[in-house]
Amino acid sequence: MSVENAAEATRSGRRVAVVGGGIAGLAAAYELVSEPDDAGLSVDLYEARERLGGVIRTDYVDGYVLDAGPDAILTLKPAALELCRELGIEDEIIPTRDEDRGVALYSRGKLRPLPYGTGSSWLRKIFAYASSGVVSWRSKLRMAADLVIPRGPQADDESMADFFGRRLGHEAVDRIVDPLIAGIYSGDPDRLSIMSTFPRFPQMVARNRSILLSLLKAPQSGRSGTRTLPVFCSLRRGLAQLVEALEARLQGAAIHLNARVESLTRVGSGYELRTASGSRPSYSEVILAVPAPIAADLLGGDFPEVAARMASIRYVSSGTVFFAYRRDEVADRARGYGFLVPSREGRRINGATWITNKFEGRSPEDGFLARCFVGGDRTAEVLERDDADLIRICRDELREIAGIDADPLFGRVYRWRSSNPQYDVGHARRAEEIDAALAGVPGLFVTGSGFRGIGIPDCVKDGRETARRLLQSTPTH
Ligand SMILES: Cc1cc2nc3c(=O)[nH]c(=O)nc-3n(C[C@H](O)[C@H](O)[C@H](O)COP(=O)(O)OP(=O)(O)OC[C@H]3O[C@@H](n4cnc5c(N)ncnc54)[C@H](O)[C@@H]3O)c2cc1C
Repeated sequence: MSVENAAEATRSGRRVAVVGGGIAGLAAAYELVSEPDDAGLSVDLYEARERLGGVIRTDYVDGYVLDAGPDAILTLKPAALELCRELGIEDEIIPTRDEDRGVALYSRGKLRPLPYGTGSSWLRKIFAYASSGVVSWRSKLRMAADLVIPRGPQADDESMADFFGRRLGHEAVDRIVDPLIAGIYSGDPDRLSIMSTFPRFPQMVARNRSILLSLLKAPQSGRSGTRTLPVFCSLRRGLAQLVEALEARLQGAAIHLNARVESLTRVGSGYELRTASGSRPSYSEVILAVPAPIAADLLGGDFPEVAARMASIRYVSSGTVFFAYRRDEVADRARGYGFLVPSREGRRINGATWITNKFEGRSPEDGFLARCFVGGDRTAEVLERDDADLIRICRDELREIAGIDADPLFGRVYRWRSSNPQYDVGHARRAEEIDAALAGVPGLFVTGSGFRGIGIPDCVKDGRETARRLLQSTPTH
Protein backbone atom coordinates (compact mmCIF):
# COMPACT_ATOMS: atom_id res chain seq x y z
CA MET A 1 0.00 0.00 0.00
CA SER A 2 1.42 3.38 -0.95
CA VAL A 3 1.89 6.19 1.59
CA GLU A 4 -0.88 8.16 -0.18
CA ASN A 5 -3.25 5.23 0.11
CA ALA A 6 -2.38 4.73 3.74
CA ALA A 7 -3.25 8.36 4.32
CA GLU A 8 -6.50 7.92 2.38
CA ALA A 9 -7.28 4.79 4.41
CA THR A 10 -6.81 6.75 7.59
CA ARG A 11 -9.20 9.39 6.27
CA SER A 12 -11.77 6.75 5.29
CA GLY A 13 -11.36 5.24 8.74
CA ARG A 14 -10.68 1.58 7.89
CA ARG A 15 -7.62 1.03 10.05
CA VAL A 16 -6.77 -2.56 11.00
CA ALA A 17 -4.52 -3.75 13.83
CA VAL A 18 -3.08 -7.27 13.84
CA VAL A 19 -1.90 -8.16 17.34
CA GLY A 20 0.74 -10.92 17.36
CA GLY A 21 3.50 -11.50 14.81
CA GLY A 22 3.60 -15.32 14.82
CA ILE A 23 2.85 -17.18 11.61
CA ALA A 24 -0.93 -16.71 11.99
CA GLY A 25 -0.68 -12.93 12.47
CA LEU A 26 1.84 -12.63 9.63
CA ALA A 27 -0.38 -14.64 7.29
CA ALA A 28 -3.36 -12.44 8.22
CA ALA A 29 -1.38 -9.23 7.65
CA TYR A 30 -0.05 -10.58 4.34
CA GLU A 31 -3.58 -11.27 3.15
CA LEU A 32 -4.69 -7.76 4.16
CA VAL A 33 -1.85 -5.96 2.36
CA SER A 34 -2.35 -8.16 -0.70
CA GLU A 35 -5.69 -6.40 -1.27
CA PRO A 36 -5.67 -4.01 -4.23
CA ASP A 37 -4.50 -0.51 -3.24
CA ASP A 38 -7.96 0.98 -3.71
CA ALA A 39 -9.35 -1.13 -0.84
CA GLY A 40 -8.28 1.78 1.37
CA LEU A 41 -6.92 -0.17 4.34
CA SER A 42 -4.09 0.71 6.65
CA VAL A 43 -2.54 -2.17 8.55
CA ASP A 44 -0.49 -2.07 11.78
CA LEU A 45 1.06 -5.23 13.19
CA TYR A 46 2.05 -5.33 16.89
CA GLU A 47 4.54 -7.88 18.17
CA ALA A 48 5.58 -8.09 21.82
CA ARG A 49 9.05 -9.53 21.11
CA GLU A 50 11.97 -7.97 19.31
CA ARG A 51 11.48 -10.31 16.32
CA LEU A 52 8.68 -11.74 14.19
CA GLY A 53 7.80 -15.44 13.87
CA GLY A 54 6.51 -16.34 17.34
CA VAL A 55 7.54 -19.94 18.03
CA ILE A 56 9.15 -20.13 14.58
CA ARG A 57 12.75 -19.22 15.24
CA THR A 58 15.93 -20.27 13.44
CA ASP A 59 19.40 -19.61 14.87
CA TYR A 60 22.65 -20.07 12.97
CA VAL A 61 25.53 -21.23 15.19
CA ASP A 62 28.98 -22.21 13.85
CA GLY A 63 27.56 -23.60 10.60
CA TYR A 64 24.62 -25.37 12.32
CA VAL A 65 21.00 -24.44 11.55
CA LEU A 66 18.88 -24.63 14.70
CA ASP A 67 15.11 -24.58 14.24
CA ALA A 68 14.31 -23.88 17.87
CA GLY A 69 10.52 -24.34 17.65
CA PRO A 70 8.86 -26.13 14.75
CA ASP A 71 11.25 -27.85 12.37
CA ALA A 72 9.00 -29.38 9.70
CA ILE A 73 5.96 -28.61 7.56
CA LEU A 74 3.34 -31.24 6.87
CA THR A 75 2.91 -31.39 3.11
CA LEU A 76 -0.46 -33.16 3.16
CA LYS A 77 -2.04 -29.84 4.14
CA PRO A 78 -1.11 -27.51 1.26
CA ALA A 79 -1.61 -23.99 2.76
CA ALA A 80 2.02 -23.40 3.84
CA LEU A 81 3.48 -24.74 0.59
CA GLU A 82 1.09 -22.61 -1.44
CA LEU A 83 2.19 -19.58 0.55
CA CYS A 84 5.86 -20.43 -0.11
CA ARG A 85 5.06 -20.54 -3.82
CA GLU A 86 3.29 -17.15 -3.70
CA LEU A 87 6.22 -15.66 -1.80
CA GLY A 88 8.70 -16.92 -4.41
CA ILE A 89 10.55 -19.33 -2.11
CA GLU A 90 9.25 -22.57 -3.58
CA ASP A 91 12.77 -23.52 -4.72
CA GLU A 92 13.89 -23.25 -1.10
CA ILE A 93 11.61 -26.10 -0.01
CA ILE A 94 13.64 -29.17 0.97
CA PRO A 95 12.22 -32.66 1.52
CA THR A 96 13.27 -34.93 4.37
CA ARG A 97 16.45 -36.82 3.42
CA ASP A 98 15.93 -40.23 1.92
CA GLU A 99 19.27 -41.78 2.84
CA ASP A 100 18.77 -42.40 6.56
CA ARG A 101 15.06 -42.29 7.17
CA GLY A 102 12.79 -43.94 9.70
CA VAL A 103 11.91 -43.42 13.35
CA ALA A 104 12.58 -45.62 16.39
CA LEU A 105 10.44 -46.13 19.46
CA TYR A 106 11.94 -46.60 22.90
CA SER A 107 10.02 -49.51 24.31
CA ARG A 108 10.72 -51.95 27.12
CA GLY A 109 14.23 -50.64 27.66
CA LYS A 110 15.52 -50.39 24.11
CA LEU A 111 15.20 -48.52 20.83
CA ARG A 112 13.17 -50.43 18.28
CA PRO A 113 13.47 -49.12 14.73
CA LEU A 114 10.16 -49.05 12.98
CA PRO A 115 9.89 -50.62 9.57
CA TYR A 116 9.88 -48.00 6.86
CA GLY A 117 8.17 -48.06 3.48
CA THR A 118 4.59 -48.02 4.71
CA GLY A 119 4.57 -44.26 4.18
CA SER A 120 5.83 -41.85 6.77
CA SER A 121 2.46 -40.36 7.64
CA TRP A 122 1.81 -41.05 11.28
CA LEU A 123 -1.48 -42.66 10.37
CA ARG A 124 0.43 -45.44 8.75
CA LYS A 125 3.04 -45.56 11.45
CA ILE A 126 0.53 -47.11 13.82
CA PHE A 127 0.55 -50.26 11.79
CA ALA A 128 4.27 -50.13 11.13
CA TYR A 129 4.72 -49.97 14.91
CA ALA A 130 2.60 -53.04 15.37
CA SER A 131 5.05 -55.19 13.45
CA SER A 132 8.18 -53.85 15.16
CA GLY A 133 8.17 -55.67 18.49
CA VAL A 134 6.94 -52.56 20.26
CA VAL A 135 3.71 -54.23 21.38
CA SER A 136 2.94 -57.77 22.54
CA TRP A 137 1.34 -60.46 20.39
CA ARG A 138 -1.86 -60.06 22.32
CA SER A 139 -1.88 -56.37 21.41
CA LYS A 140 -1.19 -57.13 17.75
CA LEU A 141 -4.25 -59.39 17.65
CA ARG A 142 -6.27 -56.73 19.41
CA MET A 143 -5.17 -54.14 16.85
CA ALA A 144 -6.12 -56.47 14.00
CA ALA A 145 -9.63 -56.66 15.49
CA ASP A 146 -10.10 -53.14 14.10
CA LEU A 147 -10.76 -54.89 10.78
CA VAL A 148 -13.85 -56.64 12.06
CA ILE A 149 -15.32 -54.79 15.02
CA PRO A 150 -18.40 -52.70 14.23
CA ARG A 151 -18.28 -48.93 13.92
CA GLY A 152 -19.84 -48.51 17.34
CA PRO A 153 -21.84 -45.48 18.45
CA GLN A 154 -20.73 -42.19 16.93
CA ALA A 155 -19.70 -39.94 19.83
CA ASP A 156 -19.82 -36.13 19.48
CA ASP A 157 -16.28 -36.10 20.79
CA GLU A 158 -14.12 -38.32 22.96
CA SER A 159 -10.52 -38.48 24.10
CA MET A 160 -7.84 -39.91 21.83
CA ALA A 161 -7.25 -42.64 24.43
CA ASP A 162 -10.93 -43.65 24.42
CA PHE A 163 -11.21 -43.64 20.64
CA PHE A 164 -7.99 -45.56 19.93
CA GLY A 165 -8.53 -47.79 22.96
CA ARG A 166 -11.86 -48.84 21.47
CA ARG A 167 -10.48 -49.44 17.99
CA LEU A 168 -6.96 -50.76 18.67
CA GLY A 169 -6.77 -51.66 22.36
CA HIS A 170 -5.17 -49.97 25.36
CA GLU A 171 -1.66 -51.33 24.92
CA ALA A 172 -1.55 -49.65 21.49
CA VAL A 173 -2.62 -46.39 23.13
CA ASP A 174 0.14 -46.58 25.76
CA ARG A 175 2.93 -47.72 23.49
CA ILE A 176 2.09 -46.14 20.12
CA VAL A 177 -0.48 -43.33 20.31
CA ASP A 178 0.99 -41.76 23.45
CA PRO A 179 4.54 -41.15 22.08
CA LEU A 180 3.20 -39.87 18.77
CA ILE A 181 0.92 -37.45 20.58
CA ALA A 182 3.75 -36.21 22.78
CA GLY A 183 5.82 -35.61 19.64
CA ILE A 184 3.10 -33.57 17.95
CA TYR A 185 0.96 -31.99 20.69
CA SER A 186 3.14 -32.31 23.80
CA GLY A 187 -0.12 -33.68 25.17
CA ASP A 188 -1.93 -36.39 27.03
CA PRO A 189 -4.14 -38.79 25.02
CA ASP A 190 -6.53 -39.08 27.98
CA ARG A 191 -7.38 -35.38 27.68
CA LEU A 192 -6.93 -34.52 23.99
CA SER A 193 -9.99 -34.51 21.74
CA ILE A 194 -9.98 -36.90 18.79
CA MET A 195 -12.31 -34.59 16.84
CA SER A 196 -10.05 -31.53 17.20
CA THR A 197 -6.71 -33.29 16.68
CA PHE A 198 -7.25 -36.09 14.19
CA PRO A 199 -10.86 -35.99 12.97
CA ARG A 200 -9.73 -38.06 10.02
CA PHE A 201 -9.70 -41.19 12.19
CA PRO A 202 -13.35 -41.12 13.26
CA GLN A 203 -14.18 -40.11 9.68
CA MET A 204 -12.31 -43.19 8.45
CA VAL A 205 -14.29 -45.40 10.77
CA ALA A 206 -17.56 -43.75 9.75
CA ARG A 207 -16.73 -44.24 6.07
CA ASN A 208 -14.88 -47.58 5.91
CA ARG A 209 -15.68 -49.07 9.34
CA SER A 210 -11.96 -49.68 10.02
CA ILE A 211 -8.82 -47.57 10.42
CA LEU A 212 -6.70 -50.29 8.85
CA LEU A 213 -8.85 -50.56 5.73
CA SER A 214 -8.79 -46.77 5.36
CA LEU A 215 -5.01 -46.57 5.63
CA LEU A 216 -4.67 -48.63 2.50
CA LYS A 217 -6.34 -45.78 0.60
CA ALA A 218 -4.64 -42.82 2.34
CA PRO A 219 -2.24 -40.56 0.35
CA GLN A 220 1.46 -40.96 1.16
CA SER A 221 2.89 -37.72 -0.17
CA GLY A 222 2.15 -34.04 -0.62
CA ARG A 223 2.62 -31.78 -3.63
CA SER A 224 4.15 -28.40 -4.29
CA GLY A 225 3.35 -27.34 -7.86
CA THR A 226 4.62 -30.21 -9.97
CA ARG A 227 6.90 -31.60 -7.24
CA THR A 228 5.90 -34.61 -5.21
CA LEU A 229 7.13 -34.26 -1.66
CA PRO A 230 7.40 -36.66 1.26
CA VAL A 231 5.04 -36.11 4.17
CA PHE A 232 7.34 -33.52 5.79
CA CYS A 233 9.52 -30.80 4.34
CA SER A 234 11.36 -27.69 5.50
CA LEU A 235 13.20 -24.71 3.99
CA ARG A 236 16.87 -24.65 3.04
CA ARG A 237 17.89 -22.11 5.71
CA GLY A 238 15.33 -23.19 8.29
CA LEU A 239 11.71 -22.21 8.84
CA ALA A 240 12.59 -18.59 9.64
CA GLN A 241 12.92 -18.23 5.86
CA LEU A 242 9.13 -18.29 5.67
CA VAL A 243 8.93 -15.51 8.27
CA GLU A 244 11.55 -13.42 6.42
CA ALA A 245 9.75 -13.88 3.09
CA LEU A 246 6.47 -12.78 4.67
CA GLU A 247 8.09 -9.78 6.33
CA ALA A 248 9.53 -8.71 2.98
CA ARG A 249 5.99 -8.64 1.57
CA LEU A 250 4.62 -6.56 4.43
CA GLN A 251 6.04 -3.25 3.31
CA GLY A 252 2.49 -1.98 3.06
CA ALA A 253 1.98 -2.54 6.79
CA ALA A 254 3.55 -0.74 9.73
CA ILE A 255 5.32 -3.34 11.87
CA HIS A 256 5.82 -2.46 15.54
CA LEU A 257 8.33 -4.70 17.37
CA ASN A 258 8.82 -4.70 21.15
CA ALA A 259 5.23 -3.48 21.17
CA ARG A 260 3.20 -5.59 23.59
CA VAL A 261 -0.49 -4.71 23.46
CA GLU A 262 -1.62 -4.40 27.07
CA SER A 263 -5.28 -3.58 26.67
CA LEU A 264 -8.05 -3.37 24.14
CA THR A 265 -11.07 -1.17 24.77
CA ARG A 266 -14.18 -0.68 22.72
CA VAL A 267 -14.56 2.99 21.88
CA GLY A 268 -17.60 3.90 19.78
CA SER A 269 -17.69 1.49 16.86
CA GLY A 270 -13.93 0.91 16.95
CA TYR A 271 -11.17 -0.17 19.32
CA GLU A 272 -8.43 1.55 21.25
CA LEU A 273 -5.27 -0.38 22.04
CA ARG A 274 -2.78 0.50 24.76
CA THR A 275 0.76 -0.61 24.06
CA ALA A 276 3.65 -1.17 26.47
CA SER A 277 5.11 2.21 25.48
CA GLY A 278 1.86 3.91 26.56
CA SER A 279 0.61 4.84 23.09
CA ARG A 280 -3.17 4.56 22.51
CA PRO A 281 -3.83 4.08 18.78
CA SER A 282 -7.39 3.58 17.51
CA TYR A 283 -8.59 1.08 14.93
CA SER A 284 -11.81 0.26 13.20
CA GLU A 285 -10.93 -3.45 13.18
CA VAL A 286 -8.63 -5.73 15.14
CA ILE A 287 -7.34 -9.26 14.51
CA LEU A 288 -6.00 -10.92 17.65
CA ALA A 289 -3.34 -13.50 16.68
CA VAL A 290 -2.00 -14.19 20.16
CA PRO A 291 -2.31 -17.31 22.38
CA ALA A 292 -5.90 -17.79 23.67
CA PRO A 293 -5.18 -16.84 27.34
CA ILE A 294 -3.62 -13.55 26.18
CA ALA A 295 -6.60 -12.85 23.91
CA ALA A 296 -8.79 -13.61 26.95
CA ASP A 297 -6.89 -11.03 29.05
CA LEU A 298 -7.23 -8.40 26.33
CA LEU A 299 -10.96 -9.01 25.90
CA GLY A 300 -11.81 -9.55 29.58
CA GLY A 301 -12.91 -5.95 30.24
CA ASP A 302 -15.39 -5.44 27.41
CA PHE A 303 -16.24 -9.02 26.41
CA PRO A 304 -16.11 -11.11 29.59
CA GLU A 305 -18.10 -14.09 28.28
CA VAL A 306 -16.03 -14.72 25.18
CA ALA A 307 -12.89 -14.07 27.27
CA ALA A 308 -13.93 -16.76 29.76
CA ARG A 309 -14.32 -19.30 26.95
CA MET A 310 -10.89 -18.40 25.57
CA ALA A 311 -9.31 -18.61 29.02
CA SER A 312 -10.53 -22.20 29.33
CA ILE A 313 -8.30 -23.33 26.44
CA ARG A 314 -5.43 -25.07 28.20
CA TYR A 315 -1.78 -24.50 27.27
CA VAL A 316 1.37 -26.38 28.24
CA SER A 317 5.03 -25.45 27.95
CA SER A 318 7.69 -27.32 26.02
CA GLY A 319 11.39 -27.07 25.35
CA THR A 320 13.98 -28.09 22.81
CA VAL A 321 17.58 -28.86 23.73
CA PHE A 322 20.18 -28.97 20.94
CA PHE A 323 23.55 -30.70 20.88
CA ALA A 324 26.21 -30.36 18.18
CA TYR A 325 28.66 -33.27 17.91
CA ARG A 326 31.58 -34.36 15.80
CA ARG A 327 29.84 -36.55 13.25
CA ASP A 328 32.24 -39.49 13.51
CA GLU A 329 31.58 -39.73 17.27
CA VAL A 330 27.82 -40.32 16.98
CA ALA A 331 26.87 -41.29 13.43
CA ASP A 332 26.87 -45.06 14.01
CA ARG A 333 24.46 -44.75 16.97
CA ALA A 334 22.17 -42.00 15.72
CA ARG A 335 20.32 -43.79 12.92
CA GLY A 336 17.17 -42.61 11.15
CA TYR A 337 15.35 -39.38 12.00
CA GLY A 338 15.31 -40.02 15.75
CA PHE A 339 13.15 -41.68 18.38
CA LEU A 340 9.99 -41.22 20.46
CA VAL A 341 9.41 -42.27 24.06
CA PRO A 342 6.07 -43.46 25.51
CA SER A 343 5.30 -41.92 28.93
CA ARG A 344 4.98 -45.35 30.55
CA GLU A 345 8.77 -45.74 30.09
CA GLY A 346 9.19 -43.01 32.71
CA ARG A 347 12.02 -41.15 30.92
CA ARG A 348 12.70 -37.44 31.24
CA ILE A 349 12.64 -36.60 27.52
CA ASN A 350 9.76 -37.14 25.09
CA GLY A 351 12.01 -37.95 22.15
CA ALA A 352 14.94 -36.78 20.06
CA THR A 353 15.46 -35.85 16.43
CA TRP A 354 18.70 -36.52 14.58
CA ILE A 355 18.40 -33.30 12.62
CA THR A 356 21.41 -33.98 10.40
CA ASN A 357 19.79 -37.20 9.18
CA LYS A 358 16.40 -35.55 8.70
CA PHE A 359 17.24 -32.47 6.59
CA GLU A 360 20.14 -31.62 4.28
CA GLY A 361 22.47 -28.77 5.24
CA ARG A 362 21.67 -28.51 8.94
CA SER A 363 25.27 -29.09 10.10
CA PRO A 364 28.80 -28.77 8.69
CA GLU A 365 30.15 -31.81 6.79
CA ASP A 366 31.93 -33.19 9.86
CA GLY A 367 29.26 -32.13 12.37
CA PHE A 368 26.04 -33.70 13.65
CA LEU A 369 23.03 -31.93 15.13
CA ALA A 370 20.61 -33.56 17.61
CA ARG A 371 17.59 -32.10 19.36
CA CYS A 372 15.75 -33.40 22.43
CA PHE A 373 12.13 -32.58 23.11
CA VAL A 374 11.01 -32.02 26.72
CA GLY A 375 8.02 -30.72 28.66
CA GLY A 376 4.36 -30.87 27.78
CA ASP A 377 1.91 -32.66 30.04
CA ARG A 378 4.26 -35.48 30.91
CA THR A 379 7.73 -34.04 31.64
CA ALA A 380 6.67 -30.54 32.74
CA GLU A 381 8.90 -30.53 35.83
CA VAL A 382 12.03 -31.16 33.72
CA LEU A 383 11.48 -27.83 32.01
CA GLU A 384 11.71 -26.01 35.34
CA ARG A 385 15.37 -27.00 35.79
CA ASP A 386 18.02 -24.42 34.95
CA ASP A 387 19.84 -24.69 31.61
CA ALA A 388 22.87 -26.54 32.98
CA ASP A 389 20.65 -29.13 34.64
CA LEU A 390 18.47 -29.51 31.59
CA ILE A 391 21.53 -30.12 29.41
CA ARG A 392 22.84 -32.68 31.89
CA ILE A 393 19.47 -34.48 31.99
CA CYS A 394 19.22 -34.62 28.20
CA ARG A 395 22.79 -35.89 27.86
CA ASP A 396 22.08 -38.62 30.42
CA GLU A 397 18.95 -39.61 28.55
CA LEU A 398 20.72 -39.70 25.18
CA ARG A 399 23.43 -41.88 26.70
CA GLU A 400 21.01 -44.29 28.37
CA ILE A 401 18.49 -44.48 25.54
CA ALA A 402 20.65 -44.20 22.42
CA GLY A 403 24.18 -44.85 23.68
CA ILE A 404 25.37 -41.35 22.73
CA ASP A 405 28.26 -40.70 25.10
CA ALA A 406 30.26 -38.13 23.11
CA ASP A 407 30.96 -34.66 24.52
CA PRO A 408 28.92 -32.12 22.56
CA LEU A 409 30.66 -29.17 20.90
CA PHE A 410 27.88 -27.03 22.29
CA GLY A 411 24.42 -27.36 23.80
CA ARG A 412 21.51 -24.91 23.57
CA VAL A 413 18.23 -24.71 25.45
CA TYR A 414 15.01 -23.10 24.20
CA ARG A 415 11.90 -22.86 26.34
CA TRP A 416 8.45 -22.30 24.89
CA ARG A 417 6.39 -21.19 27.85
CA SER A 418 2.62 -21.72 27.57
CA SER A 419 3.02 -22.03 23.82
CA ASN A 420 1.41 -25.41 23.12
CA PRO A 421 -2.41 -25.24 23.07
CA GLN A 422 -4.14 -28.44 24.11
CA TYR A 423 -7.30 -29.27 22.22
CA ASP A 424 -8.99 -31.10 25.07
CA VAL A 425 -12.25 -33.01 24.62
CA GLY A 426 -14.96 -30.46 23.74
CA HIS A 427 -12.52 -28.04 22.08
CA ALA A 428 -14.44 -27.89 18.78
CA ARG A 429 -17.60 -26.79 20.60
CA ARG A 430 -15.65 -24.20 22.60
CA ALA A 431 -14.11 -22.83 19.39
CA GLU A 432 -17.56 -22.67 17.75
CA GLU A 433 -18.96 -20.82 20.75
CA ILE A 434 -16.11 -18.31 20.55
CA ASP A 435 -16.76 -17.82 16.82
CA ALA A 436 -20.50 -17.41 17.44
CA ALA A 437 -19.92 -14.85 20.20
CA LEU A 438 -17.43 -12.87 18.07
CA ALA A 439 -19.80 -12.92 15.08
CA GLY A 440 -21.93 -10.49 17.08
CA VAL A 441 -19.01 -8.11 17.69
CA PRO A 442 -18.28 -6.02 14.60
CA GLY A 443 -14.64 -5.55 13.69
CA LEU A 444 -13.11 -8.07 16.11
CA PHE A 445 -11.50 -11.32 14.91
CA VAL A 446 -9.23 -14.03 16.36
CA THR A 447 -6.83 -16.44 14.72
CA GLY A 448 -3.82 -18.54 15.74
CA SER A 449 -3.02 -22.00 16.97
CA GLY A 450 -5.28 -21.77 20.02
CA PHE A 451 -8.46 -22.02 18.00
CA ARG A 452 -8.83 -23.84 14.68
CA GLY A 453 -5.62 -25.79 14.04
CA ILE A 454 -2.15 -26.10 15.52
CA GLY A 455 0.33 -26.90 12.75
CA ILE A 456 1.95 -24.25 10.55
CA PRO A 457 -0.28 -25.07 7.53
CA ASP A 458 -3.40 -24.70 9.72
CA CYS A 459 -2.20 -21.37 11.13
CA VAL A 460 -1.39 -20.03 7.65
CA LYS A 461 -4.80 -21.09 6.36
CA ASP A 462 -6.68 -19.70 9.33
CA GLY A 463 -4.74 -16.42 9.40
CA ARG A 464 -5.51 -15.81 5.73
CA GLU A 465 -9.14 -16.86 6.02
CA THR A 466 -9.63 -14.61 9.04
CA ALA A 467 -8.24 -11.64 7.09
CA ARG A 468 -10.56 -12.47 4.21
CA ARG A 469 -13.53 -12.55 6.57
CA LEU A 470 -12.51 -9.11 7.80
CA LEU A 471 -12.21 -7.79 4.25
CA GLN A 472 -15.65 -9.13 3.38
CA SER A 473 -17.27 -7.68 6.50
CA THR A 474 -18.84 -4.25 6.56
CA PRO A 475 -16.31 -1.66 7.72
CA THR A 476 -17.08 -0.29 11.15
CA HIS A 477 -16.62 3.45 11.08
C1 LIG B 1 8.39 -26.53 20.25
C2 LIG B 1 7.35 -26.55 19.16
C3 LIG B 1 7.51 -27.38 18.06
C4 LIG B 1 6.56 -27.37 17.04
N1 LIG B 1 6.77 -28.16 15.94
C5 LIG B 1 5.96 -28.01 14.86
C6 LIG B 1 6.32 -28.59 13.61
O1 LIG B 1 7.37 -29.22 13.45
N2 LIG B 1 5.48 -28.38 12.55
C7 LIG B 1 4.33 -27.63 12.67
O2 LIG B 1 3.60 -27.46 11.67
N3 LIG B 1 3.99 -27.04 13.83
C8 LIG B 1 4.78 -27.20 14.92
N4 LIG B 1 4.49 -26.55 16.08
C9 LIG B 1 3.25 -25.76 16.16
C10 LIG B 1 3.35 -24.44 15.38
O3 LIG B 1 4.67 -24.04 15.26
C11 LIG B 1 2.59 -23.34 16.13
O4 LIG B 1 1.29 -23.80 16.47
C12 LIG B 1 2.43 -22.08 15.30
O5 LIG B 1 3.67 -21.65 14.79
C13 LIG B 1 1.78 -21.01 16.19
O6 LIG B 1 1.65 -19.80 15.48
P1 LIG B 1 0.77 -18.61 16.06
O7 LIG B 1 1.00 -17.45 15.19
O8 LIG B 1 -0.61 -19.06 16.29
O9 LIG B 1 1.34 -18.36 17.55
P2 LIG B 1 2.76 -17.88 18.08
O10 LIG B 1 3.85 -18.40 17.23
O11 LIG B 1 2.75 -18.22 19.53
O12 LIG B 1 2.71 -16.31 17.89
C14 LIG B 1 2.00 -15.45 18.75
C15 LIG B 1 2.76 -14.14 18.79
O13 LIG B 1 2.03 -13.20 19.57
C16 LIG B 1 2.96 -12.42 20.30
N5 LIG B 1 2.26 -11.83 21.43
C17 LIG B 1 1.81 -12.44 22.56
N6 LIG B 1 1.20 -11.55 23.35
C18 LIG B 1 1.24 -10.35 22.72
C19 LIG B 1 0.73 -9.05 23.02
N7 LIG B 1 0.05 -8.81 24.15
N8 LIG B 1 0.97 -8.05 22.15
C20 LIG B 1 1.64 -8.28 20.99
N9 LIG B 1 2.13 -9.50 20.65
C21 LIG B 1 1.92 -10.52 21.50
C22 LIG B 1 4.02 -13.43 20.72
O14 LIG B 1 5.22 -12.80 21.09
C23 LIG B 1 4.14 -14.26 19.44
O15 LIG B 1 5.11 -13.75 18.56
C24 LIG B 1 5.42 -26.53 17.13
C25 LIG B 1 5.24 -25.70 18.24
C26 LIG B 1 6.20 -25.69 19.25
C27 LIG B 1 6.03 -24.76 20.43
